[in-house]
Amino acid sequence: MSEDVRELVGAVRTYLQVHGRGRHFATGSWVDPGSGRDGSAGALGGSSGAGDGPDHVPGTAPVAETVTDREFGREDFGSKLETVAPARIEAGDLDQLREVWGECTRCSLAGGRTNLVFGEGAAPADLMFIGEGPGEQEDLQGRPFVGRAGELLTKMIEAMGLSRDLVFIANIVKCRPPGNRDPEPGEVTSCLPVLLAQIRLVRPRVIVSLGRISAQTLLSSGTPIGRLRGRWHCFEGVDLMPTFHPAYLLRSPEKKKEAWQDLQLVMEKLREPHA
Ligand code: SF4
Repeated sequence: MSEDVRELVGAVRTYLQVHGRGRHFATGSWVDPGSGRDGSAGALGGSSGAGDGPDHVPGTAPVAETVTDREFGREDFGSKLETVAPARIEAGDLDQLREVWGECTRCSLAGGRTNLVFGEGAAPADLMFIGEGPGEQEDLQGRPFVGRAGELLTKMIEAMGLSRDLVFIANIVKCRPPGNRDPEPGEVTSCLPVLLAQIRLVRPRVIVSLGRISAQTLLSSGTPIGRLRGRWHCFEGVDLMPTFHPAYLLRSPEKKKEAWQDLQLVMEKLREPHA
């Protein structure tokens, strides 16, 4: 392990020592009457990330509560990461991070999970996909995007001329929300430090966020996914392209064309010479 990576993993370890691996955060409520954020399944049902749809309902209020920098963990953890820029990623560095994060119980989602779904893929990788949270199959298998939505994501990646083992795939929260409800802000806050550390280790040139919750969380925005997608944003200094969640695309196949347009923009970006 390089010195920088050791420092990053050490920052996560220190963070967990200070904030506790088993601390249960109070969770607030997302305010979005159309999305089932009160704990019920979203209007469109299905697996995590299925909530893209309500954003397209005219007049539907956007998410009124977003995750602030303080809640996001930047205030006391992100600043530590500022100083860490791994020069070289070695096989096993992500394993070290996984080991340090351990069988986390920092939020109440731990109680309902079968497996913690850490994420998988290459590191470093030019491209990183970030979904919302594990669904039923992911929870059972301990791997991200392995159900029907996962099969579609695999096809999307292959259509880009890549393969799953060339990219990194993760979620905002690592444990399945009950009934596939949207993760609550406190759960997102509890889990974000490990995602930030993963991004530092993977060092993607481009992040593709999958679905409304992922995009709105990463961008601290209540803007509907239909208006976020199709244009470039920035997260942690990395170009970010929001697109629809594969679970939503399974139910709304007419949206695949727009998702493909988003991925074509990503391919163009990846073809640009390294800065
Ligand atoms: S969702 Fe994240 S913070 Fe919550 S218990 Fe799982 S790993 Fe820990």
